Parts: sequence; C-alpha cells; structure tokens
Amino acid sequence: MNSDGGPKGTNTQLTAAGRRAEWTGPVVNPPVWRASTHLYPDTAALKDGGAANEDGRFFYGRRGAPTQWALADALTAIEPGAAGTVLYPSGVAAIAGALLAVLKPGDVLLVTDNAYEPSRVMANGLLHRLGVEARFFDPLDIDGFADRFCDRTKAVLLENPGSLTMEVCDVPALAAMAREKGAVSLIDNTWASPIGFPALERGCDISIMSLTKHVGGHSDLLMGAASGGDRWYRRLRQTAQALGQVVSPDDAALALRGLRTMGLRLERTSATALALAEWLADRPEVAHVLCPMHPGSPGHDLWRRDFSGGCGLFSVIFAADDARMAERFVDGLSLFGIGFSWGGYESLALPIDPAAIRTATSWPPAHWDPAHRCGVRLSIGLEDPADLIEDLARGLAQMEQK
Ligand SMILES: *Cc1c(COP(=O)(O)O)cnc(C)c1O
Repeated sequence: MNSDGGPKGTNTQLTAAGRRAEWTGPVVNPPVWRASTHLYPDTAALKDGGAANEDGRFFYGRRGAPTQWALADALTAIEPGAAGTVLYPSGVAAIAGALLAVLKPGDVLLVTDNAYEPSRVMANGLLHRLGVEARFFDPLDIDGFADRFCDRTKAVLLENPGSLTMEVCDVPALAAMAREKGAVSLIDNTWASPIGFPALERGCDISIMSLTKHVGGHSDLLMGAASGGDRWYRRLRQTAQALGQVVSPDDAALALRGLRTMGLRLERTSATALALAEWLADRPEVAHVLCPMHPGSPGHDLWRRDFSGGCGLFSVIFAADDARMAERFVDGLSLFGIGFSWGGYESLALPIDPAAIRTATSWPPAHWDPAHRCGVRLSIGLEDPADLIEDLARGLAQMEQK
C-alpha cells in the first residue's frame, strides 16, 4: 500500500506499516493467529515447508504467523536501512539475543558506561561466563574512544541518550570508529525509537528497542526487537531461532495497536516533558535538568543535530546531597506512579542515584558540584501538563519537609 509517490510522513508510515493484504484479509488489523502447529495439505508441501526460512512462510509456530510477521514488518518499515526485524519476549531478551548473535568466546565487547543496568549485568555476568570480556567506556570521550579498541574488540554497545543520566553521545562518530576498527555497533535505541533517531542511518549496525516502552505504550506488555541490514538481520534471526525466541500473537497484536499511535504519543509526551523540564530548571531545589530536548540541558546541541524527536523520559538532579529528599519528593507526588519502566500513557517517577552503576566515568561528572548527585527520573505520560506541574510543586514542597 506504499507504491505511490515519495517517502511519507511519520504518522502516515505508522498507520500503514505491516498492513499487508495477505495478513489482514478484508479487515483493518491482522487477526490474532494463535498457532503452534501449521498444517500442510500433503507430505510434498510438508517437505517444502521448511525450505525458505522467511517471515510470511507458514512452517511452525516458533517462526511466527501473520500477527508477528506484521509487527516485525512494520518495525522494519519505520527503521531506515533495515532489511528485517527480529522480535523477542522482552527488551532485555533483545539485547541478549543481539549480543549473542555477534559475539563469541575470546571477544572483547565495549559497553557505554551509561548503559541500562541489566545490560551491564549481562555483560559482566552471562557474557563473562561465555568468555567475552566487557570493557566500559566513557561515551562522551570521543578522542579516547579509539584507544579502547584492541584486536579482540568485536562489538560496541551504545545507548543514546543513556536512559538514566541522559548523556547524548556522538553516535555517528562512535559508530564510524567501530566500523573502521572492524567491530559491530549495536545501539539500545529505546529512548527515541527510529522515529526520533534512525540508528542504522546514523551508522549503527544493529538497532535494539524495548517495545515495552513507546511501542506498547500502555504498560501492559513486554517485548523487544532488533533490526539490522541484511547481513546482521540474518545473524539475529539465526541466533533467535537457535535460542527458541518467540513472542505471543496476542502481545504482537497489542504492540501493533500501540504502534499506530506511537507518533502522536511521542509528540505529546515530548512536548509535556519539555514544559516540565523548563519549569523544573527554574526551581531552586533543582541543580540539573537532564532532558536532551531542553536547550539548557547537557547534550542538547548533539540532540538537535542527530535527532528528529524525543520522548517523555528525563531526569532531574537535586541540589541537596541527600537521597532521602529524592524519596520524599517521589512519595509526595500523587499523579505520578512509582515504578520501573516508562513510555506508558501514565506518568511515573523513580528516585535515582546513578553513582552506583558507573565504572569508567565518575558520577556526578567531574565538573559538577559533588553534592549534585541524587535525583529522580520522570516518565511523562498523557496527562494535562498543568496538572503534572501542580503535582511536581507538591513533590518539591514535600521534599523540604523533614
Ligand atoms: C526497559 C529498558 C530495556 C528493557 O526492556 P524490557 O522490555 O523491560 O526487558 C532496555 N533498555 C532500556 C534503555 C530500557 O529502559
């Protein structure tokens, strides 16, 4: 349904993506195909069945059916440069699946020091056990990056911005360096999604996303995806099949439903996040607002250069050197839920103390006042901005009460 004219706008793409007539039939959405066994008309067809290992060929439930194919196809359509997308039962499974697809014993993996904590744990635990050595690097130290490579360095894991501390790094430069050194670059692109940051176009080899966040969008499903050009997509697919990775058709249908409105939700939550970031930046209790879309925030210039959008997730660091104050702030909020995850329609808040999970760099950064350390991460939902600001004011008032 996309044969006429040139490239389409984001929301037009999100409306059309994955809706192939052979999968939807006469209705708008592909039905939920709950299927393990796929039946063959005869033994000749059975013999032929396994031949082409492609989405769109019935074989057996582990290779999916139209509901999952439509979702993978839709995600490929919105990721410029992707030849295909593999689905995983969670974002963490997608990170694990992608790393296992590109690494072998003896390899060195460079991991950005602002990586999502489970990615760090995976690098230091599972991958270490499999003979892969993880080395953490400062994502902002472009000049030092080349020195981090050795002849065993086979992959680089990026995250942009870091989903806790929101550092924006120069992905095109880091990915180009990785390529020059013969290493695969993988990026956890959950924050911006390809809508805000077309990672493959920016030079990365594999783009990973937790669909649990913006794509699902309603805090009711877990899923992940990894996309790549032809070579890496084949590797991802082989490895995922060897590991038996598969997603349920019911969850795939929910993810497809979420995808249709993702562009609108991202626009709205980004705008509200920016309004809240501006309001917080003027408050005396706040030392740093870490929101890439906000002109006063670190990394804003790179964000403007490389991104075409943002999302509702940002962090705030308080002036007081007291983790209890961040907890009182969060406990003082009533519209923000307290919980992990983000990207849902409802706002969430979480106290953070990033120092605990840095090894290659210091937290707070060397040029900050060392007291500026603790804060909160906010995931902004679809509520009215004025109500959220009123709630933040309540939280700040509560924070000051002993
Ligand atoms: C949540 C998250 C993940 C993991 O996603 P799940 O679907 O919860 O497993 C990966 N990366 C980032 C940056 C995340 O925030």
